[in-house]
Amino acid sequence: MMSDKHSIVYWTYQDAPEHAYPGHPESPNRFGYFKDWIAQSPYPAMQRLDYAPARLEDLMAAHSQRMIENLQQETQNPPHEIDQAPTYVTPASYQAALGAVGATLAVSRKVMRASAGRGFAIVRPPGHHAVHDHPMGFCLFNNLAVAAADAVISGMGKVAVFDFDAHHGNGVEDIFRQTEQVAYCSIHEEGLYPGTGHLEAAPHARGRLVNLPVPAFSGTKVFTRLIDQVVEPWLKAFQPKMLFVCAGFDAHFSDPLTSLTVNTEGFYRLTQKVMDLAETYCGGRAVFVLEGGYDPLALSDNLQASLAALSGEADYPDHYGKGPDQSKDISALIEEARTYHQLRE
Ligand SMILES: [Zn+2]
Repeated sequence: MMSDKHSIVYWTYQDAPEHAYPGHPESPNRFGYFKDWIAQSPYPAMQRLDYAPARLEDLMAAHSQRMIENLQQETQNPPHEIDQAPTYVTPASYQAALGAVGATLAVSRKVMRASAGRGFAIVRPPGHHAVHDHPMGFCLFNNLAVAAADAVISGMGKVAVFDFDAHHGNGVEDIFRQTEQVAYCSIHEEGLYPGTGHLEAAPHARGRLVNLPVPAFSGTKVFTRLIDQVVEPWLKAFQPKMLFVCAGFDAHFSDPLTSLTVNTEGFYRLTQKVMDLAETYCGGRAVFVLEGGYDPLALSDNLQASLAALSGEADYPDHYGKGPDQSKDISALIEEARTYHQLRE
């Protein structure tokens, strides 16, 4: 089915144990279950990459120099909150943030150089809320945006970003708001933090910046239907050379921060579908970057399910099972989005 070359999954891992804050959900404990599995028994197709901390010139592909310097200064103080989310920093946070970007770049540059390839940067702190000029929403640097901008600067051509985290990736949208070479599409729960991501939020970039807010209790069927009827025609029309994925797993029904109802099998199928799209429309190049996911056991299951799909494996753990109803009628949203963005099969 898949060639050997295609089934290699390049990966990096950073759990940043010292980037921690009392009582905060974005904590090293998120990897409490996953870290033992990834240390001992990743799938045979998975190939670990070394990485170095990101350099200033790397970061400036997506962030202003003032933002970078401000963050470095903030982290010289004792642990404290820097916004209402709350986003926190500690004296270890600047190195953690540089590491998360570096680990993401290692995967994306490897995939970029390969004639086709897939990878997963399993990192924290996450990135998709961090905007051009400041950190935001548990995110310090925008790991994925730096890597996507790096791909464009390196001459990759157009790249696309698909975001299935439960929250809108406002940072990715902000950074690429005026960048014609980068398209962004997000499925997210309406009304959640940070309150952005309305369907008509980017009238200047119809067909390029696509927001799909879904109601609470939308599950796997809603996500797969949107992928078939909106995400696929969006990719087909944009013709990117590479696909980046904001892979947040907080849309799982057990997640304490959200009310969506995707299950672990859903993340397996979703990953398969996204990979199929990457094969068909993006030269077979796909880079997944971890974003949210705040139930440590579910995050471990969901990461293993997603990595199984990328590795061509059929088995993965699922401690939670099928869960609540997966359906919700989103026909109106699909019709509205397809009309607004002029998307047709
Ligand atoms: Zn999230």
